[in-house]
Amino acid sequence: MITAEVSEIFAAALQVDLISDERAITDFMQAYFSAWSKLNRLQEEHALAFQNSFYGSRYLQKLRTQWQQDREQREAQPAAILSIENHGETAVVITSQAYGCDEDLRRYHLRKTDNRWEIERKGLRCFACKSGCEHDNEICTVCAGVGWCYGRASRDE
Ligand SMILES: [Zn+2]
Repeated sequence: MITAEVSEIFAAALQVDLISDERAITDFMQAYFSAWSKLNRLQEEHALAFQNSFYGSRYLQKLRTQWQQDREQREAQPAAILSIENHGETAVVITSQAYGCDEDLRRYHLRKTDNRWEIERKGLRCFACKSGCEHDNEICTVCAGVGWCYGRASRDE
């Protein structure tokens, strides 16, 4: 009886930990999105000098209009967390981000190191699979049937 009560208390404590962990994951991802959008703005500023040196004015104008539209769309539809799978020391977060007239789904694999979260790798929803086509019962050659594409930096894992 006592053992059952103790394990209930233990389970409740664990639950609190998982909830506060999810809050920490949400805060971490929001900080990441915010820093990512600042980085984007800095990159655009740095690219201006380069573009002014090499691109013709009409092309330049088109590029800037496109960037402006992309920026407005990102601001109107900021990155959102769709789901968090919390496994304690690791977590998987699915997010949605505006991309042109489409939306990108991304999958972030997080690991807790020294009591803070960090991104171990991230994947992009496979463009070939997302339409849901069957590929004639063959395994998708783009993502190997995983449904997510990981960059070269993550390919070894
Ligand atoms: Zn695929």
